[in-house]
Amino acid sequence: MDIDCGDNSCRFATNRGGMRTNGGCRCFENAGFGPSAVGAALKMLPEITRLRAEVEKLKEELTENEGVIRVWRGRTQRAEDEVEKLRRVRDAAQAYLNWSQGEPGDIAAIHEALRAALDAVKDEQ
Ligand SMILES: [Zn+2]
Repeated sequence: MDIDCGDNSCRFATNRGGMRTNGGCRCFENAGFGPSAVGAALKMLPEITRLRAEVEKLKEELTENEGVIRVWRGRTQRAEDEVEKLRRVRDAAQAYLNWSQGEPGDIAAIHEALRAALDAVKDEQ
């Protein structure tokens, strides 16, 4: 965020190319502080103090919110793991059902997959 009032004697401009005005820097006025730098400083101090306190408060809120996000990420991951295990049970049960209705398949492998999927779900309890 560059500060530049467009004047030749702007106190903040870092690039003075192009058409520029004369008459003095208006950056303090443009920011709502009046033309005097000392007057601006007097108005800025309480504002800076308030803004610093606000930044500190926001940092604390951020830390707190990051903690909450970490907890929920963990819960979400565990829930997704549960869903994945249940999908394996569903797929294994479907494979068994298909076999029982005449679809060709290795029943020992189907049985083993179903057993493993059920065991994974049981381990959670
Ligand atoms: Zn200026």
